Amino acid sequence: MGVKFMEDCLFCKIAKGEIPSKKVYEDETVYAFYDINPEAPIHFLVIPKEHIKSANDLNDNNIDIISHIFKVINKLVVELNIADKGYRIINNCGEDGGQTVNHIHFHVLGGRNLQWPPG
Ligand code: AMP
Ligand code: ZN
Repeated sequence: MGVKFMEDCLFCKIAKGEIPSKKVYEDETVYAFYDINPEAPIHFLVIPKEHIKSANDLNDNNIDIISHIFKVINKLVVELNIADKGYRIINNCGEDGGQTVNHIHFHVLGGRNLQWPPG
């Protein structure tokens, strides 16, 4: 079964390779790439190839992708050498959450001491 994409979605286009990105990792269901505007020495995004708009749109049919995304992150932080010192995984959801691209994505930031709480 092919992966469903949505027209005119920036991250669908990145997942399909229609818009260039700096790839960190790819498999059948997931794509990871460096953020174009990094907020830390290491800042990449992990997205499902399937178009899911936000955390609000997770359900029994698509929730398995989230555990897969966290397994991928678990592997990538070791490869990028930030696992031991630590890092932050962020999902912004909706307008108040600061989501600017309506295709669910997990930010992974590391390589410096991150402040808390966010603004
Ligand atoms: P959010 O604000 O949580 O929706 O995050 C969207 C993120 O996507 C921001 O951190 C942007 O810097 C990043 N972004 C936007 N366009 C691109 C792109 N073409 N390639 C890589 N990252 C991008
Ligand atoms: Zn999309």
